[in-house]
Amino acid sequence: RELPGDPRMDHMPREVLHACYSKVSPSVEVENPKLVAWSQSVADLLDLDPEEFERPDFSMLFSGATPLVGASTYAQCYGGHQFGTWAGQLGDGRAITLGEVLNSRGERWELQLKGAGKTPYSRFADGLAVLRSSIREFLCSEAMHGLGIPTTRALCLVTTGKYVVRDMFYDGNPKEEPGAIVCRVGQSFLRFGSYQIHASRDKEDLKLVRLLADYTIKYHYPHLENLQQSNTLSFEVAEGDLPAIDLTSNKYAAWAVEVAERTASLVARWQGVGFTHGVLNTDNMSVLGLTIDYGPFGFLDAFDPSYTPNTTDLPGRRYCFANQPDVGLWNVSQFATALAAADLLNKDEANYVMERYGTKFMDEYQSIMTRKLGLTKYNKQLISRLLNNLAVDKVDYTNFFRLLCNVKADATVPEKDLIAPLKAVLLDIGKERKEAWVGWLQTYIEEVISSGVPDEERKVTMNSVNPKYILRNYLCQSAIDAAELGDFEEVRRLLKVMERPYDDQPGMEKYARLPPAWAYRPGVCMLSCSS
Ligand code: AMP
Ligand code: MG
Ligand code: MG
Repeated sequence: RELPGDPRMDHMPREVLHACYSKVSPSVEVENPKLVAWSQSVADLLDLDPEEFERPDFSMLFSGATPLVGASTYAQCYGGHQFGTWAGQLGDGRAITLGEVLNSRGERWELQLKGAGKTPYSRFADGLAVLRSSIREFLCSEAMHGLGIPTTRALCLVTTGKYVVRDMFYDGNPKEEPGAIVCRVGQSFLRFGSYQIHASRDKEDLKLVRLLADYTIKYHYPHLENLQQSNTLSFEVAEGDLPAIDLTSNKYAAWAVEVAERTASLVARWQGVGFTHGVLNTDNMSVLGLTIDYGPFGFLDAFDPSYTPNTTDLPGRRYCFANQPDVGLWNVSQFATALAAADLLNKDEANYVMERYGTKFMDEYQSIMTRKLGLTKYNKQLISRLLNNLAVDKVDYTNFFRLLCNVKADATVPEKDLIAPLKAVLLDIGKERKEAWVGWLQTYIEEVISSGVPDEERKVTMNSVNPKYILRNYLCQSAIDAAELGDFEEVRRLLKVMERPYDDQPGMEKYARLPPAWAYRPGVCMLSCSS
């Protein structure tokens, strides 16, 4: 690491000034830790032989109880806006980086243990993680990757064999839960808050914004490093009120634009699959445009734009499904503000960064929704009528789109048969609502016919963007219930299913079913931030 670090090496909670990280070792206590599950595709990224997972000391190593040879452990310093309010220093309060692996393809992967004990950034909390939330992070990291959505990854999950006290239950009573640790893997865990913290402090810290930006560009955006010299990038400059920005003259502006665009494209993909992150604070916004920090996330079951999976987000619903695109922009503007504070961007460039977020989001979102419908041309009205219908009838978002490919490009189908292919998701709609659906389907079929794409071809396209399997909260909960009783098979099965969410998987149909009534219980469809 070339960045300034904190000279102290203990884990006493403190304000860490003038440093991007603190050296600290895992301190978690374990008692007969066990390997719950591991991801073959992440092991491949690290050139890790599957036999390694059978080593008798594997769970000692990946709980952090036995130090890894060659590791150089630390926790990052970062800040953030939580629910719109500047929270000051946060930092890795329970994640400890083990180091980086340079694989045979020359890629650099950072490994972190989440739940490995206190760090200087733990504040009042215990530095630990419970099995419930660790299963959720482990499975969803890999499920998002399976969906083709940028995300941090998860190598493995181990139980610590110790219990952790949590008081987030609805009866108000604290509860003991099994402790666990996820090994997260990502090219970087830097967040918007990593830059914000240094921009919020004194002059010396302000210098770190530039240093950290240089570091990020060097390792993660290397094509921008020699921008002034090479002038090879040409950005299209949108016409409008804003002055034309020459991104070839300022590598930081070009970088900020890329960060904004990656973020926009990430959020568009979330909207496409119905993913709600739940805690889009600026410390949970990856500078690489990855989905990061799986807490109270949730996939939409019944379509509800105001759905938030986070009980802490009530009643404001700042982080509800429909708000994510706007929140992404708000967060990008905070990121740009931090860079501007360190004189890396001027005001026009900062405004331009935000404009590019908006443009990129609309492009990506329109393209995703068009593909979800199997069409070749964006039709705004058709999509907004559909989303309105889905919301009114609380239709299952995933299964609706998956079934839609069975609608034929045939204008002669009698009205009474139009809904037939969607019967499974439009079960109990009244006569009046049926008319709304028939009307929508007629327009849809006209669009499909005018696109000229043959039904079979359209079906293939649609099945490649409309997943059959998503990690619904209730599926996670079933795996958690079994795991808490010592049975890890369901976690492993879910991992396998979610690795190929777009494929029909014979024998796995039950994982594509509509959620049962208990899925809408608090604690299943909604969780709190702290876990
Ligand atoms: P989050 O809401 O998950 O993004 O977490 C916000 C901050 O709280 C981050 O600095 C986390 O590292 C910290 N944090 C969350 N849970 C714990 C915990 N159990 N122990 C220590 N720090 C925590
Ligand atoms: Mg976080
Ligand atoms: Mg978290």
